[in-house]
Amino acid sequence: MATINDNYLKLKAGYLFPEIARRVNAFAQANPEAKLIKLGIGDVTEPLPEACCTAMLKAVEEMGDRTTFKGYGPEQGYNWLREKIAAHDFQARGCEIEAAEIFISDGSKCDTGNILDIFGNNNVIAVTDPVYPVYVDTNVMAGNTGAAKDAGEYEGLVYLPITAENNFTAEIPSQKVDLIYLCFPNNPTGATASKAHLQAWVDYAKANGSIIFFDAAYEAFISDSTLPHSIYEIEGARDCAIEFRSFSKNAGFTGTRCALTVVPKTLKAKAADGSDVEIWKLWNRRQSTKFNGVSYIVQRGAEAVYSEQGQAQVKGLISFYLENAKIIREQLTAAGLSVYGGVNGPYVWVKTPSGLSSWDFFDKLLQNCNVVGTPGSGFGAAGEGYFRISAFNSRENVEKAMKRIMEKFKV
Ligand SMILES: *Cc1c(COP(=O)(O)O)cnc(C)c1O
Repeated sequence: MATINDNYLKLKAGYLFPEIARRVNAFAQANPEAKLIKLGIGDVTEPLPEACCTAMLKAVEEMGDRTTFKGYGPEQGYNWLREKIAAHDFQARGCEIEAAEIFISDGSKCDTGNILDIFGNNNVIAVTDPVYPVYVDTNVMAGNTGAAKDAGEYEGLVYLPITAENNFTAEIPSQKVDLIYLCFPNNPTGATASKAHLQAWVDYAKANGSIIFFDAAYEAFISDSTLPHSIYEIEGARDCAIEFRSFSKNAGFTGTRCALTVVPKTLKAKAADGSDVEIWKLWNRRQSTKFNGVSYIVQRGAEAVYSEQGQAQVKGLISFYLENAKIIREQLTAAGLSVYGGVNGPYVWVKTPSGLSSWDFFDKLLQNCNVVGTPGSGFGAAGEGYFRISAFNSRENVEKAMKRIMEKFKV
């Protein structure tokens, strides 16, 4: 009889979003006249930049013409796209990253999970709490954890709490960890990391032979010019960090699919025999074996992000969402709530009032205001007592939702 990967049985049933859907559906059935506004989603709502659409339409025509048709492209991505990324996103910010160190993919979600393919099963792994659940669940699937404990944490993972008490920046662990997931600007808290904070992580990683997985999916939302956009702005990061980036949140590619992973050629880790192995070579081998590249059409769309028009249109999208976030912050503050994030990221992280649990606040917002958000406890035990509100929505919905909250909560 065939057997399964038993690690999948350790996974807690996807609890958060199904439970939200269950409560929302029950409420909608009991209150069919209620006009619900959903501010819980981590997905963009605005259409693609025009420059990207124009480029993709042209690419479709090329594919339909015998003289310009393209079959399989390079697994690592077309060089013309990787050169633009290297120049605009890295070299322009003083990072020594070359096109050859960039791997184009169809998403950061898969890359942050797939990266575990090339690392051993004996690494000590640290994640922040709260956390983007993909980092945790992919480690469970890979067999890097034990069973789930009562509070939902897995045996064998090191959890680094990020709360208001430590200004939402994970403290450098006192113990030795080998792989560390960091996400800044952060999902779900909207917090950012200063250069000094990232320098402390890089110094720690270099001293301990650790590797940092840096998820910069929200870097385009950084509005404070002192904050680093890339981990490679930090001295020494080429020797200890892999960076994940995506076109999902800056250019609205969540349904179009294009992302990139940077693996510096100077990054090394140990083989079982004690020798140093270049991580770039392993990732290149992994990708060229298990991945056949992103479609030519989509890569042309991503390339258009770097055109003059594309840059202006992406800036417009980001400003639109950040203005939503500002409205959310201001209105919730005026209603007497403590809010964090939402300045350099699209998420506002709210402290639940009067000691309500995350789920109690969820129910209260749903019932009193007909507004749906995301309970912080769904992202980890340290998210209890917090609530995530997303700025990804229309202006009209954001304004309506905030008006309802003001009316019900203002003291
Ligand atoms: C949205 C998001 C991504 C992007 O994922 P894609 O697969 O590229 O769409 C990556 N990391 C985090 C934390 C995100 O919220």
